[in-house]
Amino acid sequence: MYLHRISEILWSRKGDKIICSLCPHYCVIPKGKTGRCRTRINKNGVLYSLAYGNPCSVAIDPVEKKPLYHFLSGSQVLSIATAGCNFRCLNCQNWTISQASSDSIDHYDLSPGQIVNMALRQKVPSIAFTYTEPTVFYEYMFDIAVKAHENGLKTIMVSNGYINPAPLEALCPYMDAANIDLKCFDDKMYRYLTGGKLQPVLDTLLALQKAGVWTEITHLVIPGLTDNPVWFESMCRWLAENGFASTPLHISRFFPTYKLAYLPPTPLEQIMRAKETAQKCGLRFVYPGNI
Ligand code: SF4
Repeated sequence: MYLHRISEILWSRKGDKIICSLCPHYCVIPKGKTGRCRTRINKNGVLYSLAYGNPCSVAIDPVEKKPLYHFLSGSQVLSIATAGCNFRCLNCQNWTISQASSDSIDHYDLSPGQIVNMALRQKVPSIAFTYTEPTVFYEYMFDIAVKAHENGLKTIMVSNGYINPAPLEALCPYMDAANIDLKCFDDKMYRYLTGGKLQPVLDTLLALQKAGVWTEITHLVIPGLTDNPVWFESMCRWLAENGFASTPLHISRFFPTYKLAYLPPTPLEQIMRAKETAQKCGLRFVYPGNI
C-alpha cells in the first residue's frame, strides 16, 4: 500500500512522538500508531498518510446529493472518499468506511492525475471530496484540487469543518464550493455526538466566507439530541448576524442509524417548524432535507 510522506508544515516532533496539526485534535502519535482519524501514521518519527492515492469510494452523483442546491445545479459530480474520519459521530451513515483505516478495507490505487482524468473522461464539471471526512485525506484532496483547476474542473468539499485555519487557508484557492455540517449550537452536545468541539467549525465557516468559497450548511435534527429549539434559534441568529443570511441552510431529517438506531426518525412537522424559525431569523434559503 502506498504511503505518502506528509509535509513537516503540518506536524512536529515531541521525543519519538509526533504532534499532528492538521485538525483541532492535535493528536500526539506514538511510533507505529495512527492519530484519531486512522489515516496519519508515525513511522519511525516521520508522519505519513495512509489515505493518499487510496480511495475506497469513487462514484458519480447529482450535485444536489452533496447537498449543494446553488452550485452547478443539475450537474453530475465525481465523488471520492478514502477511509477515516476525525469525528466519531454516533449517527454516522458511512461508519463502515469512516471508522476504518485505509489499510483495513478494500481500496483503489488512484493518483490525483488518474482521478482528474476520470472526471474528464466522464465529462463531469466537478470533483467532490465527500462521504467520509476529506480533511483526513488533506494532501490527496489538495493535489487533486490543484490538478482539477489546471484542467478546468471545479472542486467541492463536503466536510465536518474540523480543520485548522492554516491548512484550510492553503486549500481555499483550490476549492470552489463546500457543504459544512453544523451539527448543533451547544459545545457539550457537539463533543458528545462527534468527539469534536463547536468553535472550530464556526471558525471554518467564517474562513470559507472570507476566502470566497461558495458554502452551504447542513444541520441534522436528531430527536432528543440536536432538536433543542433554543439552540437552533441561537444557531440561526449567529448565522444571520455573521454574514450567512444568503447561505443555503439544509435542515435534514434524521433516520435511525449506527449507534442511534434506537431513536425515532425526526417528525416532519419539526423540520417544517425549524424551517420557519430559520426564516424568521433572517435566513433566505432554507431547505428541508431527507424528507
Ligand atoms: S488529522 Fe488525524 S492525526 Fe491529525 S490531529 Fe486530526 S485526527 Fe489527529
